[in-house]
Amino acid sequence: MSPLRIAIVGFGKIARDQHVPAIAATEGAVLAAVASPNTSLAGVPQVATLEELLRNGPPFDAVALCTPPQVRRDQAAIALAAGKHVLLEKPPGAMLSEIGPLLTAAVAARRTLFATWHSRVAPAVEPARLLLAGRRITAVRISWKEDVRVWHPGQAWIWQPGGLGVFDPGINALSILTRILPQPLFVTSADLAFPANRDAPIAATLRLADAAGLPIFAEFDFRQTGPQSWDIHLDTDQGPVILSSGGAKLSAGGVQHVVAAAAEYAGLYRRFVELTATGEPDVDLTPFQLVADAFLLGHRRTVEPFEDAT
Ligand code: NAP
Repeated sequence: MSPLRIAIVGFGKIARDQHVPAIAATEGAVLAAVASPNTSLAGVPQVATLEELLRNGPPFDAVALCTPPQVRRDQAAIALAAGKHVLLEKPPGAMLSEIGPLLTAAVAARRTLFATWHSRVAPAVEPARLLLAGRRITAVRISWKEDVRVWHPGQAWIWQPGGLGVFDPGINALSILTRILPQPLFVTSADLAFPANRDAPIAATLRLADAAGLPIFAEFDFRQTGPQSWDIHLDTDQGPVILSSGGAKLSAGGVQHVVAAAAEYAGLYRRFVELTATGEPDVDLTPFQLVADAFLLGHRRTVEPFEDAT
């Protein structure tokens, strides 16, 4: 079978750091082109926009949309209308309601729409899910705290409406949580801190629960200097379980479990190639729904203005 020819749309940090090497490492996938206004990759055909790619670019079968979430819906709709498969970076868009019509279009065209959650394929997540399946979980605490100036320098879109602010990384924790817990979750309260000069939160606390009343407390903060944390602590009837480093490490009862190193994005591309063989979609909006509910329910506080590093 000929390889899936993929065009990356939006050549920023994640495209460069993860998508290019993952496509190169995936059997049955090949990078055909890049569409990005200002950035190119040596040796790969490049145009500024998806529209131009469709008009004048080399042939391709699929797009990986690595653009900011606010522009992805239009790009996904254009790609599907042109008969291309679509991989969406997380979050799947800027709004929940924009995904339904995309899914309908994808199914009608028999093209794959794949809403990726890279943290769900972090190496310790599946081992954690299996471990927890045999235990009763009694409480969960999430600490997802990073320095926005280190990890998102100059990313104006993250602070604009639809950019999610601190939930841009925070949704990764929720994507893991909704994978490893056996029951559906809902938000019971939220507190959101908005810088006076920004349209997205710089910090948030959330309380969530499942139908049985499992207490879940989550702290997200973009102002963390010093040690960074991407950790989920679970109290269980057989002792604590800790999933740390964004899902890369697992410890239970103080003992570190050895998990096989696995590249998250290679796993996503293997799945994408698999899905496109039949045009099947893979769209789970659960983490996005929780974030949307935090915005719907959250108490908003205004905090000091945020200025990016110059
Ligand atoms: P980024 O560095 O700001 O890159 C986004 C790129 O999109 C920019 O380089 C820009 O290209 C391009 N772009 C903007 N508008 C465009 C348009 N209309 N058409 C085509 N290209 C356009 O952002 P990022 O960190 O890569 O994040 C992108 C997405 O990946 C976000 O949803 C984020 O949540 C997700 N993600 C990021 C990370 C991470 O560690 N950074 C990790 C996982 C997932 P030019 O440079 O050509 O102007």
